[in-house]
Amino acid sequence: MKYCKRCVMPDTRPGSIFDEEGVCQACRNYERNEKVDWKVRREELKCLCDQYRRKDGYYDCVIAVSGGKDSHFLTYLMKEEMDMNPLLICVADPFTHTDAGICNLKNLGESFNCDIVTFNMSIDLFRRVTRIGFEKLGEPLRFIEAAIYTVPFKYAVAFNIPLIIFGENAAYTYGTTTEDSYSVKKFILAGHSAAAEKLGERITDFWQDRGIPVNEMNALILPSDETIERVRPEPIFLSYFIPWDDEKNWMLAKRYGFKDLHHEWRREGCIEDYGQIDSMAYIVHLWMKYPKFGFSRTTDIASRWVRKGKITREEAGRLVMEYDYRLDQRAMDDFITFMGYKPRQFWDIVEQYWNPELFEKVDGIWRLKHPIYREII
Ligand SMILES: [Zn+2]
Repeated sequence: MKYCKRCVMPDTRPGSIFDEEGVCQACRNYERNEKVDWKVRREELKCLCDQYRRKDGYYDCVIAVSGGKDSHFLTYLMKEEMDMNPLLICVADPFTHTDAGICNLKNLGESFNCDIVTFNMSIDLFRRVTRIGFEKLGEPLRFIEAAIYTVPFKYAVAFNIPLIIFGENAAYTYGTTTEDSYSVKKFILAGHSAAAEKLGERITDFWQDRGIPVNEMNALILPSDETIERVRPEPIFLSYFIPWDDEKNWMLAKRYGFKDLHHEWRREGCIEDYGQIDSMAYIVHLWMKYPKFGFSRTTDIASRWVRKGKITREEAGRLVMEYDYRLDQRAMDDFITFMGYKPRQFWDIVEQYWNPELFEKVDGIWRLKHPIYREII
């Protein structure tokens, strides 16, 4: 387990890229972003909006939203600054929602005067795919994480609204790609289209092989190639056009009525209270990276803070030491109650994911062999 020389990101993230100086691609991409002429990129976005803008009053773009801070920022940008008429599409998970999350989605529609379509997938199906994801992959929300992209895409095609807005290109931000591009098309079509079929397993095959009938996978099955060819959807990441900053989005969202968790819930293992706050159990999904790859959400957030100069690498190391391993009790309780596990069953399933190359068991507790704080503190 090697750590980036600049931030606290380990090389255990699947697909991570480190250069010969031992610097991670996320840091390199951040550096590249600082040299981008954002005025030019904003103009590119305006041109794209002009291309899809309609005068007949019909929606001229779809925005994929959750109701969170980024959704507020995306809607603000498209509606107020780009003067577009967006339809918001939200793919909700059926875990217990926080008070803030419930208020925020409502606030998003009200503050920006937008229509919202909320897609609630079958709870029965959600529970089964989440069980498979958790027990077989250690990735509980793999199904709905894919649906977050495919469902807004499907709605946009069905409603004949070609421009589809997504927020951040996570692969670029977290450095699993060097490709700085705005198109989400390749990402959505991967594993779906006839062309992608030749490249390997389709995402629907994965679930079918694990007992989910194809007629239950509506959320993931994309329109036919002919329909896509007719509508010519253009799904884009806005983080290509506008410098992306979680905290700036949060501040802007607050101005429009967004509530963070500050007065509701201090989450163990989280060093901020404005990200992924819509539902309680969601962070169990994020935490599962810890046994598998030896890092979790605090590493992600603290590394971002180091890149933007908010904290030093040493401070980040201390945060990682203090918080990264912790799984929030309330999040776990909500997860096991919803899924029907006893705490003991939950931990028995987690047990199979501790990676023995990264962890050693000392007195019954899994400990990281090479924690970042030994290196820098
Ligand atoms: Zn780095």
